[in-house]
Amino acid sequence: MQKLILIIEDEKPIVDILKFNLERENYKVIYALDGESGLSMALSKAPDLILLDVMLPGMDGFDVCRRVREKSRVPILMLTARDEELDKVLGLEMGADDYITKPFGVRELMARVKAHLRRLDKDEVKTDQIIRFGDFCILCDRYEITRDGEVVELTLREFELIKFLAQQPGRIFTRENLLEQVWGYEYFGEVRTVDVTIRRLREKIEENPAEPRYIITKRGVGYYLKAD
Ligand code: CA
Repeated sequence: MQKLILIIEDEKPIVDILKFNLERENYKVIYALDGESGLSMALSKAPDLILLDVMLPGMDGFDVCRRVREKSRVPILMLTARDEELDKVLGLEMGADDYITKPFGVRELMARVKAHLRRLDKDEVKTDQIIRFGDFCILCDRYEITRDGEVVELTLREFELIKFLAQQPGRIFTRENLLEQVWGYEYFGEVRTVDVTIRRLREKIEENPAEPRYIITKRGVGYYLKAD
């Protein structure tokens, strides 16, 4: 699954270089140009890794780092302009995983990013498996789905259904398929159960349940999840 990287950096040319190189390595990239919006993206978009500049207008990188750490174990690489011991120590005390001094070599930075993501893969048992679509994140281990960081209340069955659909976006499942895969064989035959659960899910997830954007009906066949 494509990893999501958040860049928090106020110098747009640096953002552009990072974005270009990360996307070339097939990472998905989002960015913020100041600390406040960076923090809110860090909490709402559940990135797999954050590249965080220290010197930011308003809330600085140390504050962002500390606030993110209160909620998340996401790897944080600090970008520090000065090669000063103080920056490094402070960053690591605030919970950063690593730092890199500007100006940095792109290859070195990419190597560090990869190393941290690899470490994350090894720790996968401890971290949530996350499935994303639109503004939603499905946090599999926590049985939670969030929209822009806010938890959407679902029943267990609704959660299992949306998770199942989101695992294979675009693939159409018949109601019989869904009954079998999500409900288990004991419900075999009661296909209307699927329709009812889909309707409830749409009411909770879709802005306009009458014209769903995500949970789509393929007439005469079944349902699928449209990712973006
Ligand atoms: Ca800066």
